[in-house]
Amino acid sequence: MAYDILTVVALGVLVVAFIITSFMIKTKHRQRVMHRHFPDSWLPCLEKLPLYNMLPEELQEELRARVMIFLDEKEFEGCGGMEINDEMKVTIAALACMLLLNKKLDYYPELNSVLVYPDAYISPKGVSKVGGNQIIVDTESARLGESWLHGDLIVSWNKIESEAYNEYSRSNVILHEFAHQVDQMNGAADCVPPLVKRDDFDDWEEVVPKEFADLQRRIEFGIPDVIDRYGATNPAEFFAVTTEAFFCKSIDLQHHRPELYNQFRNFYQLDPASWCEDHRSRSQFAE
Ligand SMILES: [Zn+2]
Repeated sequence: MAYDILTVVALGVLVVAFIITSFMIKTKHRQRVMHRHFPDSWLPCLEKLPLYNMLPEELQEELRARVMIFLDEKEFEGCGGMEINDEMKVTIAALACMLLLNKKLDYYPELNSVLVYPDAYISPKGVSKVGGNQIIVDTESARLGESWLHGDLIVSWNKIESEAYNEYSRSNVILHEFAHQVDQMNGAADCVPPLVKRDDFDDWEEVVPKEFADLQRRIEFGIPDVIDRYGATNPAEFFAVTTEAFFCKSIDLQHHRPELYNQFRNFYQLDPASWCEDHRSRSQFAE
């Protein structure tokens, strides 16, 4: 019996040692990658992105380092005849890493590959639901993006191009799909992201469900809102659509839903409204 207990303890120690060693190796490798020279040919790809250009200099620097790590760890796959190039990879990585800036979130640990279609596509996985399997699909039959809990994230390059390079775009499919990944980092996609402190969680629970219910009510009565109506579909879509609004129409979100903006600012540890120039404050919806 004593032998069995000793064996179990020894195995436990070995497992813990393995986990710690793997973590240390990974951390060291990431440090090496992030200190490599950012390729000169990638810089113009970043500078095409209005969101990158709006970032304070220190966050631009952090984003470049994170892009290097993301591209070191994730696979990209062209689908439907798509040829993947560096511009596509850097653009997708930059927007994905925008959500990781200035805080300790891992690099989408459940994500292995980003599948890129040229345009809207028919999902190869055929099922769509939000819940147990955490499949998040973002159009009806022909899809523009979807996020799976384990493995893949699928996007359309045409959709990315039409939004990511347009400083007036009010939506962003990459931010949307990666917001689902962020939401899923602590389990279900349920509009409760991985908040660090208990107080933050309590504040979030006090504000966000109320805002979601309010959006649903407004949509039901046909009242326009700063949050796109798709956000009223369910809590997971509310988190993803509000994340888009947080970055793409931050001043409007801050103005019309200040409590919600504050919760997202607290979670993301970023303040996009403060980065904005005047043109981004132009409201494109009626009260
Ligand atoms: Zn979605």
